Amino acid sequence: MYDYDLLVVGSANADLVIGVDRRPGAGETVLGSDLAVHPGGKGANQGVAAARLGARTALLARVGDDGHGRLLLDSMRDAGVDTGGVLVGGAPTGVALITVDPSGDNSIVVSPGANGRLVPEDVEAAASLLQASRVVSAQLEIPMETVEEVVRGLRQGTRFVLNPSPPRPLPPEVLAACDPLIVNEHEARVVLGADAGATPSEWAEALLALGPRSVVVTLGKEGALVSDASGVAHVPSVKVEAVDTTGAGDAFTAALAWRLGLGESLAEAARYATHVGALAVTREGAQASFPTASEVAAL
Ligand code: ATP
Repeated sequence: MYDYDLLVVGSANADLVIGVDRRPGAGETVLGSDLAVHPGGKGANQGVAAARLGARTALLARVGDDGHGRLLLDSMRDAGVDTGGVLVGGAPTGVALITVDPSGDNSIVVSPGANGRLVPEDVEAAASLLQASRVVSAQLEIPMETVEEVVRGLRQGTRFVLNPSPPRPLPPEVLAACDPLIVNEHEARVVLGADAGATPSEWAEALLALGPRSVVVTLGKEGALVSDASGVAHVPSVKVEAVDTTGAGDAFTAALAWRLGLGESLAEAARYATHVGALAVTREGAQASFPTASEVAAL
């Protein structure tokens, strides 16, 4: 009945990473390590994470007609993502310029590039992709109007999952479509604004009152809270040796969205997603760290 378990609508970025002894001040130049270029962006990350787990996954995104765009398309195809919905051209591929100092602290400048040119008309033109997908997942590294068009184009019965990252206040019609809205602490505070409350369960309840059908608050090594009309429940994380948490949230969200589409309850899907998130933090990098379903089963 559905061609895809999951359609991800979102960003694709090339992450350009240079290690430095210290970050430069204004007007200063410092020498750094060799450049490392990694495929990233929340949309591409979620797509790769879901496909690696075995979900039939498609991506609706935009990259530039350039080397970074080709790197991203290759990494998605290698993972098994259907990239037929990835549009090419209109602006350079989105880039994140990342410097990392010896303590692991980083500073990042993002050029959204082609991600900012994924417009509502692109979603309208991809109506058949939306109609063919059991679950649709989005984030906010693309224009809000594009996310609003996704919500309008959802097929009856298709589930919509949103990770509002980078966070900003959300329109009521987007909030009402979320099942669930998935946030970490920082995102919860921004979406809630002044009424944030003090504890994760207060955030979950306050977020639910804004209109989504369900809410998930991710808590890093503490796992996640899931919340819907039946109440709030804590899903503990799996104890692992964390090496690099980059992309853990994207892996968690992709896994949760896929498992919900398979018919699992919110708590069951979140339990599976905590296993995926835990494995992702045991390895370096974002996409490179995402596990397969057999690795999850072995955990
Ligand atoms: P990021 O922005 O780093 O990708 P995030 O802030 O969106 O992540 P987190 O809450 O840090 O999201 O992580 C998502 C999920 O991954 C958590 O709910 C948890 O299940 C798992 N996870 C993250 N960090 C750890 C850890 N140190 N140990 C075990 N599981 C973890």
